[in-house]
Amino acid sequence: MFRRDGVWAIISKIRDLVRESFIAKSLKLRIILLLLLTGIIPVIITRGVILRNYEKNAVSSRNSDLSIQCNILSNYLLSSGYLDGNMQDSVNSEIEQMANLYDGRVIIIDRDFRAVKDTYGIYESKTIISEDVLRAFSGEPSNGYDSSNHYVEVVMPVVDAFSQEVNGVIIACASTDSLMATIDVLRRQAFILEVIMTIIIIAISIMFSRLLMRPFNRVTQAINKIEAGYEQEVIDVKGYTEMESIVGALNQLLSRMKKLDDSRQEFVSNVSHELKTPLASMKVLADSLINMGEDATYEMYREFMEDITHEIDRENSIITDLLSLVKMDKTAGTLNIKEVDINEMTEAILKRLKPLADLNSIDLIFESIRQVRAEVDEVKLTLAVSNLIENAIKYNNPNGWVRVMLDADHQFFLITVTDSGIGIPAEAQDHVFERFYRVDKSHSREIGGTGLGLAIARSAVIMHRGAIKVSSLEGQGTEFAIRIPLTYIAPSSR
Ligand code: ADP
Repeated sequence: MFRRDGVWAIISKIRDLVRESFIAKSLKLRIILLLLLTGIIPVIITRGVILRNYEKNAVSSRNSDLSIQCNILSNYLLSSGYLDGNMQDSVNSEIEQMANLYDGRVIIIDRDFRAVKDTYGIYESKTIISEDVLRAFSGEPSNGYDSSNHYVEVVMPVVDAFSQEVNGVIIACASTDSLMATIDVLRRQAFILEVIMTIIIIAISIMFSRLLMRPFNRVTQAINKIEAGYEQEVIDVKGYTEMESIVGALNQLLSRMKKLDDSRQEFVSNVSHELKTPLASMKVLADSLINMGEDATYEMYREFMEDITHEIDRENSIITDLLSLVKMDKTAGTLNIKEVDINEMTEAILKRLKPLADLNSIDLIFESIRQVRAEVDEVKLTLAVSNLIENAIKYNNPNGWVRVMLDADHQFFLITVTDSGIGIPAEAQDHVFERFYRVDKSHSREIGGTGLGLAIARSAVIMHRGAIKVSSLEGQGTEFAIRIPLTYIAPSSR
């Protein structure tokens, strides 16, 4: 068990190494290897098959040659009466000649299983009873090939044509050395051919893989250029369809990044502008006081100082709103989700804003259709709802009203903030959620607006996977509605 575990560990280690290896990761090397294998493997297989067939054919033709010679010899033996003791020299020399011709050996056995002739002289006068010989005596010739000792063998009965009797047996062997020598030469030539082909295929596959990799290199160069700061809007690389779809996706990413960059730049310039405005007012106020010198009265000092304090408050609220917005811009992972009583939360907000409403003689009405508990980030949602109610109070008419309604179905809860205020012109309704957008800049500034309240509210709602909508009639009033899931839906980890 231990050993098997060890072997598995080694195998998986090797597998990891291969996976991590340069070959497994480099597409170019893979292409070269693939071309090499597809080029070389068929050559090796073809070589093997051709040589084997050649050997088979050569052996079988030698066998049939030998069989023919044995037949001729058999007739000669019968006609000369060699097997009946009439061992003429002419027959012997014929037998020797045949053995020489095939660089082999011929043994003649008579009907008593006695070797009457062996061209090697070893078996002469000895009795030979082998399976092949016995089979030959029953009239069945046989042949075989001994590839390790390089010879073919034919065992042929000597049959009397008249009596059909087997008078003896011829065993003839022929060397296949010359055949092997030819095969060796062929093999050597095939090997040289293989080496040449391998070199050619390597050269072609390197060229081919370079050609194939060219679009990839062009894309890399284009990306590197963009990274190096070249002002390039799109990557324009033509190539394979797959390559073009990667380039398309990259271009989409680029345009998204560009949009993000543009909006970041716009945001920074807006922020600087908004932060500079109160500073510029403060500078004007302070300069005027200095320029007045001795002429400035206490009342004037007081009035100017009050204005300066007002501008400081404005600067402060812009910075506070900006910080809230930055927090909202972070990922939803920063949400602190808890089950919250939304009725209680709304009542607390209304209680906090009551003095502001009283100051503007606005009637605050809370209409709760049902009790709602939901999984939300209380701080962020409070900020969103407060901004809506604060706006409804700020952009209202004296003696107006603000109605906050809370309702829920089985999936979402709904908070609507309706007011009897000045309303938002139709063309501005699409823009009110943009950062620093204000319908009437001077009016908003007068009442302490920063232009960030609705952007903050929208970010908070989106973080909760909810939706926010506005509907308004200029001069009559506005309604903001937010809809948020009762159960928090965590963003997928993708
Ligand atoms: P601000 O700090 O200026 O109030 P907001 O982002 O909260 O910024 O609102 C953007 C603009 O939308 C406001 O300047 C105002 O012109 C308009 N607005 C928002 N709420 C209301 C509302 N309830 N009634 C009328 N106009 C509104």
